[in-house]
Amino acid sequence: MNMEYYLPTKIIIGKGCIAEKSALLNNIGSKALIVTGRRSAKINGSQQDIEEALQANNIPYYIFDAIEPNPSIKTVREAAGVARRERVDFIIGCGGGSPLDAAKAIAILAVNEVDDTELFSGQYPNTPLPVIAVPTTAGTGSEVTQYSILTDDNIQSKRSITSAAIFPKIAFLDAIYTEGLPTEVTINTAIDALSHAMEGYLSNRANDISSIYAIKSMQIIGSCLELLDKEMNFATREKLLYASVLGGVVIAQTGTTALHSMGYSLTYFKQVDHGRANGLLMYEYLKLINREGSDKVREVLNLLGLEDIEALKLVLATLLKQSEPITVQEVKLFSEIAAKAKNIGNTLVIPSIADIESIFSRSLGVSPRLKAFKL
Ligand code: NAP
Ligand code: ZN
Repeated sequence: MNMEYYLPTKIIIGKGCIAEKSALLNNIGSKALIVTGRRSAKINGSQQDIEEALQANNIPYYIFDAIEPNPSIKTVREAAGVARRERVDFIIGCGGGSPLDAAKAIAILAVNEVDDTELFSGQYPNTPLPVIAVPTTAGTGSEVTQYSILTDDNIQSKRSITSAAIFPKIAFLDAIYTEGLPTEVTINTAIDALSHAMEGYLSNRANDISSIYAIKSMQIIGSCLELLDKEMNFATREKLLYASVLGGVVIAQTGTTALHSMGYSLTYFKQVDHGRANGLLMYEYLKLINREGSDKVREVLNLLGLEDIEALKLVLATLLKQSEPITVQEVKLFSEIAAKAKNIGNTLVIPSIADIESIFSRSLGVSPRLKAFKL
């Protein structure tokens, strides 16, 4: 047997868990920077809970609340400047995957004057500040990963920082913050969580330990699939948040695969939400993996409670509705970019450039005016 598993994050799950366990923050640092998005954390109660927990422990803090979805390098550099100016010694990320990822990059940049190449190298002269993560979407699992994914205009895509030093120290998971998620965000983020578990299970870096988490995550998401576009009770919200953290545990071990590499272009060039981008491409991706008659695809469908791959297509079409159109030129450009991504190499069946082009064009339907150009 030859296996590795590493997860240094303390995971705390439950209603009111931040208030209940706030004393843990005393062991983390003496002044915090709360990193969050523009609006949602103020509405769903997470920011207030964090502020109250810090106040209860007499820990001063400063708030940076300008993280945009798919955060840019410019924004995290700006926030790191604030962290230095305010002399904070730990970072609390609060929000969806975007503020959580931003918090990790800020933790690096607050103590390291590095250029973009060094930022993405994963090696830093000074140990990044400790990070605490409070997710308010149930999708990315960023609260338990060593990845910070930023938008990088230099490569016209999203790019991942990978460093064991940015695993959050503590993840506080309270599903109450996800109760008011709009249906569209609920669907997109649940599909993101599903793609983490699924890709991790189908990754050539999967091992027995990562697969145990992937199986559980897919079973839970499968049991919730039909509820995603409906009014949801708290128990379902809790299940989705749990499935999402399990998905994060999976990709922390396996990385993502071709599905994520391809989805990044849809997000970068066409502003398609991260999870939705994965969902739009998922059926054709699974067909690629199934090309050689993989038992593992059948197992995935069983775990999701689906009869066959066509049943998955139907579920995805119901949830995601009309897909964004794509042109022949976009197919070419997106495929070239995706083929260069590091995580393509993790895919069980590594796609050729022709495979990638075919997945894009079949998933999104090439714009009719341009169909005359043969792919
Ligand atoms: P997000 O980009 O963090 O947030 C999307 C939108 O949802 C924002 O407008 C946000 O509003 C809103 N929102 C967040 N929580 C809400 C709540 N409880 N109620 C209502 N609205 C809420 O979305 P995400 O899908 O969670 O994260 C996507 C990002 O995570 C991408 O950049 C992706 O690349 C990354 N990701 C990272 C990992 C990893 O391991 N590090 C894994 C997968 C994905 P505000 O802006 O007002 O907060
Ligand atoms: Zn993802």
